[in-house]
Amino acid sequence: MPHRPRSMFGPDFTFLGVPAIEVSDLARESADVVILGAPFDAGTSHRPGARFGPNAIRAADCAPWDGARPHLALRVDPLTDLRVVDGGDIEMPPGDTALSMTRLREAVTAVLAVGAIPVVLGGDHTVSLGTMRAVAAQRRPERTALLHFDAHADTDDTQFGLREAHGTQMRRLVEEGTIHGRELVQIGLRGYWPAPPTLNWMAENGLRAYEMTEIGARGLPVVLAEAMATVTADTTGVYLSVDIDVADPAAAPGTGTPEPGGFTSRELLDAVRTVAQRVPLVGVEIVEVSPAYDHAETTAYLANRVILEALSGIAWRRTQIDTGTAWQPELPLLHDRPWRQR
Ligand code: MN
Ligand code: MN
Repeated sequence: MPHRPRSMFGPDFTFLGVPAIEVSDLARESADVVILGAPFDAGTSHRPGARFGPNAIRAADCAPWDGARPHLALRVDPLTDLRVVDGGDIEMPPGDTALSMTRLREAVTAVLAVGAIPVVLGGDHTVSLGTMRAVAAQRRPERTALLHFDAHADTDDTQFGLREAHGTQMRRLVEEGTIHGRELVQIGLRGYWPAPPTLNWMAENGLRAYEMTEIGARGLPVVLAEAMATVTADTTGVYLSVDIDVADPAAAPGTGTPEPGGFTSRELLDAVRTVAQRVPLVGVEIVEVSPAYDHAETTAYLANRVILEALSGIAWRRTQIDTGTAWQPELPLLHDRPWRQR
């Protein structure tokens, strides 16, 4: 498949320095997680630049490049407990959305085919058309739900007349049957879009969207528990799509369509970690990081940590399944927990 293996930063530039691999060589890698860059921003409706997101997310880090990232609260290490590799960036021509999504879909399918979890660094949110189509198709007849963190519903019928763009992709996925409307749960919506006809379409198709007003009134833990119950009710796997603009612009200024009034960075990290611990994630994407609008790498750091929280939750969940240990919703105090020996 057409594939741009590395970036302008050189052949060894990967997510936190994890091993670089070629997607075409995955069968020889025994990877648990494969990072893929999706440098596409032709579906952006406002400020562009998310094509530069993958490398900004890969690089945003302040810890040693020693291949370890011990998670203080979970007592797992996402980069050593899991074999995480980086397959580089997909070649996504800006003028051809369909071809870009086809190539992304092929790469994600290759990751799934070896039993690994794809972690995709966007790119604007159009990339869900490539990722989710691959995940849903590969897992059929098993059903896959989509848990979607975003300030925006991304459910318009068209955007500037286009059917495939970063404000329409969730509607396409439901219309074409990739996901069922009842299995698409959105968290963090706010602001002044979309218009009533689109909101009506969402209601008619069974989407559940938690607006920030509801999250504020009921509390994030309550809402999150309800959302996780919904996405696991009739499915065996959940794909997690995080649009960084679900975070407040104070926490994520480097994005194309900022909307004030969102999650704090801690709320977002807590939510992602909890989801990864408690539901069977089959893939993760972080989208809409646009470095040109970032300040002090704030947004890129948050996106990097969203991925680490997700991987840590996945690693933690595997230890629970592997050992048969009872579910532990409450973590004991830090000093009570010696680091597990491996
Ligand atoms: Mn979005
Ligand atoms: Mn958004």
